[in-house]
Amino acid sequence: METLQQTIIRAAEAMQEELTARRRDFHAYPELGWCEMRTSSLIARRLTELGYEVLTGPAVCRDEARMGLPDRQTLEQAYRQAEQQGADPEFLPAARGGFTGVIGILRCGEGPTAALRFDIDALPVSECPDGEHRPTREGFASRSAGVMHACGHDGHAAIGLGTAELLMRLRDRLHGTVKLIFQPAEEGVRGAKSIVEAGHLDGVDYVLGGHMGGAPDTPAPSIGVGSGNTLATTKFDVCFQGKPAHAGFCPELGKNAMLAAAAAVLNLYASPGTGPRPPRSMWAS
Ligand SMILES: [Zn+2]
Repeated sequence: METLQQTIIRAAEAMQEELTARRRDFHAYPELGWCEMRTSSLIARRLTELGYEVLTGPAVCRDEARMGLPDRQTLEQAYRQAEQQGADPEFLPAARGGFTGVIGILRCGEGPTAALRFDIDALPVSECPDGEHRPTREGFASRSAGVMHACGHDGHAAIGLGTAELLMRLRDRLHGTVKLIFQPAEEGVRGAKSIVEAGHLDGVDYVLGGHMGGAPDTPAPSIGVGSGNTLATTKFDVCFQGKPAHAGFCPELGKNAMLAAAAAVLNLYASPGTGPRPPRSMWAS
């Protein structure tokens, strides 16, 4: 009998063409955080076709916990654009108003619950118009001016859908529950909080996330597999309070909040370390 690993490799190889096409489609229509309406609608469509229990719209993210939500007008423009760019008409309305992100659930009886996270948003970056740039040359460059999948989340979304298909095929050999979380607004560290606060990680035993990337000293195309050693970011607000004083008579009695803030900014930049990188053995061409 074929081993599980052999089954997975064979099935993954068979999906290569389809997943490349999906990745290129996502690449051609990038959407910024909380505006991933076309993207979410297509993911929801595919998960539904595969037989997943699918959560969309306000069921995915807690409304008030959506950090950095664009203004209403921007969200409405994103909705119109998604309509024009081929969003799935059945699933698009759920995303209106910035309720993006999709969760697919596969229940396979008793056992642990594992969540896999795939982020889906793009960046406010213009894609290189050079004709030699491969997406331009092969016709899948961004069709949205000033927005680009510059962080590889088009690949993450496609990988998520490929994983969804694989897991569904293997469901008779699985125990427990799998949650596939297609998370909005990863850029700027904004989207995860609302998913956590919606309770989707309650009772989850394992959470796996991944990110595409490259190492500077490996030949392209390469794939790196590893864990750990990736820095995370977070945000916090700091308030500096000063004390006014006359600049000519008694400047020494003042407390200059602007100066303190500027000094803090410079000194904070002394903090990021050059942490250890995954060993080279984890990278393979
Ligand atoms: Zn990223």
